[in-house]
Parts: sequence; structure tokens; C-alpha cells
Amino acid sequence: MFKNVIAPVQAWLLSQGRCVGCGTDLSLGKKVTHSKGEKVTCSKCGRVFIKDNDSAKFRRALFEEV
Ligand SMILES: [Zn+2]
Repeated sequence: MFKNVIAPVQAWLLSQGRCVGCGTDLSLGKKVTHSKGEKVTCSKCGRVFIKDNDSAKFRRALFEEV
């Protein structure tokens, strides 16, 4: 089961377009096209995020999306 609760600080970091793990600017990360938008891998710690096409916001990638 995917952990659905995001701590406020993580939500804040994502709203700023920053990695929840290390705070690195995700615009520096590796980007690939994804069915729902853009998949971005943090350049520092390798966490994977999805930039959603509809909302233009980052979120953590789900397990099956990685
Ligand atoms: Zn990171």
C-alpha cells in the first residue's frame, strides 16, 4: 500500500518544485516524458517525481510509475 500521507513540509517542498528528500531544485533533475506528464529524477538523491500535466505540480511517483 502506497503511503498516502504527505507531511506538510514535503507538500511545501513539492509546491516549490523541490525534492522532498534533499531539497534540490527538481528543474536540475533528469526529465523524461511520461504518460501523465513528465518524470523527473532528483539529480542528488535519485528520488522520482511526476510533474503532472493537468495540475503542473510535482508529486511523488507511484511505485508502478518508477
Ligand atoms: Zn533529492
